[in-house]
Amino acid sequence: MTSETTGPMNTTDTTDTTGPSETKATFYAILGAPNVGKSTLLNRFVGSKISIVSPKVQTTRTRVLGIAMVDMAQLVFIDTPGIFTPQKRLDRAMVAAAWSGAGDADRVIMLIDAAKGIDSNTSTILDGLKKTKRQAILIINKVDLVEKTDLLMLASKLDQTNLFTDTFMVSAETGDGVQQLLEFLADLAPPSPWFFPEDQISDMPGRLLAAEITREKLFLQLHQELPYAATVETESWETFDDGSVKIRQVIFIERSSQKAIILGKGGTRIKSLGEASRRELEDILECKVHLFLFVKVRENWGNDPERYRDWGLDFNA
Ligand code: GDP
Ligand code: MG
Repeated sequence: MTSETTGPMNTTDTTDTTGPSETKATFYAILGAPNVGKSTLLNRFVGSKISIVSPKVQTTRTRVLGIAMVDMAQLVFIDTPGIFTPQKRLDRAMVAAAWSGAGDADRVIMLIDAAKGIDSNTSTILDGLKKTKRQAILIINKVDLVEKTDLLMLASKLDQTNLFTDTFMVSAETGDGVQQLLEFLADLAPPSPWFFPEDQISDMPGRLLAAEITREKLFLQLHQELPYAATVETESWETFDDGSVKIRQVIFIERSSQKAIILGKGGTRIKSLGEASRRELEDILECKVHLFLFVKVRENWGNDPERYRDWGLDFNA
């Protein structure tokens, strides 16, 4: 017997999301330039990988929701695609999704890379924040990379913008300062029923998460521009009686000439992609995974409205 499932994130069948009466809950949007560490911080908040991380920019394509429980407070974080100056249609859709994520949230968290400081991407976001007339919570990330004096100079410069109610300095990578920050964020949460079941950590369907994990491996294992030209879809997901799952995914590329690169000599590349992705999926799903990867050409997927809907992006942004 096999059965279809939407994935691993709903580990409970209950629809009752209200906990005991003293529960608190709130939504935070995480804004910041590409590569400042938004996804890394979110994964740390949640204590599990739900947003893909890579040293290359713009790997988060859509809005990812992460949920953290701090005592009785449920903190829901919206990891937005990094905001940058949009050129292509996909870029525009991502920027629109980022700002709409900020609008939906109770509070905005602005993340800045301590080593990069206020670069042009960050300035653009600061200008955008000014226009929204909302104050944000400032988080200076990657403190492990800079000298204390430089850090304090950056903090005071940012303080002068009057855009921030509070400032925190953390390293999402090492976890330095993160627990203290989480507790602060929990204190701000107003009394409210929980929005999600207590043990849920994301609203991302398992199929999409699984596709994102494979896409991350493309970014990590392939260089040049290819990963940007590829997209991954989970075609089928079957759960077997012994608890294992069989996942079929297709890597879509724009041109047939890219196929050879993904396959590698004698199929070595796709094998190693599949292995890395499968290992991580087994880790997250806590079961045996049979992963089957296929490569197909789909010309011009960057202009295909259907892909945008799958990612929760607005094609006409
Ligand atoms: P995003 O684009 O803002 O989501 O950034 P990511 O979370 O994908 O991180 C971008 C890169 O910065 C990755 O290579 C991370 O490992 C790295 N990174 C994130 N946080 C830290 C940190 O606190 N210290 C250091 N040294 N690197 C970090
Ligand atoms: Mg990201």
